[in-house]
Amino acid sequence: MINNSQQSKDTTPLLHREGQGGGSALKQIAILGSTGSIGTQALQVIAAHADRFEARILTANNRWQLLAEQARQFLPAAVVIANEAHYEALRDALSDLPIAVYAGADALCQVVESDEVDMVLTAMVGFAGLPPTIAAIRAGKPIALANKETMVVAGELINRLCREHQVPILPVDSEHSAIFQSLIGEVSPIEKIILTASGGPFRTFTKEQLQTVTPQMALRHPNWDMGAKITIDSATMMNKGFEVIEAKWLFGVEPDKIQVVVHPQSVVHSAVQFADGAVKAQLGVPDMRVPIQLAFSFPERLQSDFDRLDWFTMHDLTFERPDTDRFRCLALAYESLHQGGNMPCIVNAANEVVNRAFLVGNCAFLEMADIIEKTMQRATFIQQPTYEDYLATDKEARRIAAEQTHPSPSL
Ligand code: NDP
Ligand code: MG
Repeated sequence: MINNSQQSKDTTPLLHREGQGGGSALKQIAILGSTGSIGTQALQVIAAHADRFEARILTANNRWQLLAEQARQFLPAAVVIANEAHYEALRDALSDLPIAVYAGADALCQVVESDEVDMVLTAMVGFAGLPPTIAAIRAGKPIALANKETMVVAGELINRLCREHQVPILPVDSEHSAIFQSLIGEVSPIEKIILTASGGPFRTFTKEQLQTVTPQMALRHPNWDMGAKITIDSATMMNKGFEVIEAKWLFGVEPDKIQVVVHPQSVVHSAVQFADGAVKAQLGVPDMRVPIQLAFSFPERLQSDFDRLDWFTMHDLTFERPDTDRFRCLALAYESLHQGGNMPCIVNAANEVVNRAFLVGNCAFLEMADIIEKTMQRATFIQQPTYEDYLATDKEARRIAAEQTHPSPSL
């Protein structure tokens, strides 16, 4: 008999609630960040399964024209443009349609609470995803979690709220979806998580070469086509560090049991090792629509026309140790987990600042880790942060990090 009961550790949220998505009514999905890489792929999934899903709410920050186009196609009940400067343009563009138009960060929190919303996909980028994710959890909405920064900043708080409100989190990040899929049916503890990493565009670069890499080079990811922020985070491997933190909170596993393994082909999306030495992994062609669709349809799997693995052209699947000397951001993320409290929040804020600074030429590639480390030393440490502490920490750490950026002569 297949046993679909789950690991029940007190520190984990309700990851695998049974029976969602199986009803006959269309599942109404709010997409926070519908104009981004994850958001647009989520809309492709919804369009392909119009008999199962409906886009109830769409949101963006600045790209109001694209948001208006999406609204025209998917006819959601409401749209939100976070940057209020674009409100009138968006409202005018949609004036002939019965779609409510809102603006501002608070509106993001309000729309997810609507009774009509069945699931919230958090596909916004950065710390800005935290308040609406919390609002959605408080309103009892299942979360399809793409916005990993939420778990990095406040994983403990998110888990507590998910338990209080009986809200499941369905991971969208490909690695966490792979871990989640590997855990289905297991009742025994995890011995180790094998978190795979592509290694990014600079995997084979020496430290000397890393000194002069440009944003354009960093934006060319070998396997995934993603938003700019996460693409830069992948180049520094901070993305993998964040995923270690995300895995700790999603699966209740301590950092020393999360092994990062560089796997440049991105076919093995991650794996779990158990007490008997067995390892279960999920494999597939790199395509974010697979984990997005599964988060929407779980526990069912829906038909797709996505590419299939071709076993006879995969000649090399290779695995390497990560190099934390060249990719120090990965070590800093582990360090922040060991320190706990608001330290991951400090790292996230500093990282958002240096990520942006690197993109616009105000910080060299290797300097990013230096600035994050100095910010970790200077920002106020809080062992047991509240929600308000996270907001204050984010502000303080951003200020400290920003003070250290400057136009870089090498770029
Ligand atoms: P993008 O930059 O492509 O898209 C971000 C979306 O969020 C856009 O819709 C953007 O609006 C909106 N947004 C940005 N800032 C704000 C803000 N301050 N307030 C409200 N909305 C905002 O990002 P991705 O789709 O690549 O990533 C989204 C999240 O998913 C990130 O947390 C990332 O780490 C995670 N993720 C992404 C993966 C990927 O393959 N892309 C894989 C795994 C995780 P606008 O278009 O108007 O700027
Ligand atoms: Mg990932």
